[in-house]
Amino acid sequence: MADVDLRSDTFTRPTAEMRAAMAAAEVGDDVYGEDPTVNALQDEVAALLGHEAGLFTPTGSMANQIGLQLLVPSGEELLTDADAHVLIYEMGAAAVYGGISSRTWPAVGDALDPELVEGMIRVPGGYDTNATRAIAVEQTHNRTGGTIIPLDTLRRVRALCDRHGLGLHCDGARLWNAHVATGVPLDVYGRLFDSVSVCLSKGLGAPIGSVLVSNRAAIARGRVIRKRLGGGMRQAGIIAAGGLHALRHHIPRLAEDHAHAARLAAALAPAGVVDADAVRTNIVRLDLTKTALDAAGLVAAAREHDVLISPVGPRAVRLVTHMDVDSAGIDHAAEVLLDLLT
Ligand SMILES: *Cc1c(COP(=O)(O)O)cnc(C)c1O
Repeated sequence: MADVDLRSDTFTRPTAEMRAAMAAAEVGDDVYGEDPTVNALQDEVAALLGHEAGLFTPTGSMANQIGLQLLVPSGEELLTDADAHVLIYEMGAAAVYGGISSRTWPAVGDALDPELVEGMIRVPGGYDTNATRAIAVEQTHNRTGGTIIPLDTLRRVRALCDRHGLGLHCDGARLWNAHVATGVPLDVYGRLFDSVSVCLSKGLGAPIGSVLVSNRAAIARGRVIRKRLGGGMRQAGIIAAGGLHALRHHIPRLAEDHAHAARLAAALAPAGVVDADAVRTNIVRLDLTKTALDAAGLVAAAREHDVLISPVGPRAVRLVTHMDVDSAGIDHAAEVLLDLLT
């Protein structure tokens, strides 16, 4: 059978309808702000998230890094989770390009403790302390398995940022998934943050692209940073059209991916590798500490049966559901993995 590719939701390929929309896209030079399709995408994402303006970027990493640079001046400090994508999967960009120093709270995913975070804030007291200027959170939280930080926790983080005059950025690569899983409107999430990045190229199925949203003045400064980073694209409407199509057609269907993840988790729960109740969105993290196979062993054995999964630690793997894996693929993967794990 064809590979069941559960390594990441980045493996989604554009549908025929999406390719048609891309082929037909009206374009212009986006460095001049004249690509109508890019402009429409930016406006649509900003409106959905309750913000004034948006900025199309080639990657989520670039959107995040622009967001961080807008909130944290060079030499000052960011607080985030020890497993945050902005720190561990973006090649040190915050330090290299933003001159941003970072401190982390323990990687707890959705169990983020606002009091602990508040206790970490440093206020310059004299000659020897740089200042905390912003906090970044991730929704959904990738490394802990697509977990969702509760709205109430996020509100408390917003309140502490207000008390201390800090910026708040959300790495919302999968904010769509949190919205579909909880029913919390996108703009209710969006308005909690000074800036939000969202990916079009994950579960939404576009081939390329992310959007950063914020207020108009910040996005104007963000355009300069994007150009400096080499992200000023020309007739980018060709790819933005894929993103617009994804935005208009592929958000509600994320519920199918969540149902598939729940089905996988329920099937694998008897092997003692996953708490099925903890699986909220499209990521299933398997803990292999009590099994005979380590991550590399399970990944290799599964591949023999056309099931592709990713190691995320020596004894942990990740299965990510998405629109290019159907129910038959899910059942095949569940059968293969259960067999290998028991
Ligand atoms: C995928 C992802 C990003 C963006 O990654 P790019 O590959 O740069 O587009 C950002 N944050 C999280 C949590 C992600 O999973």
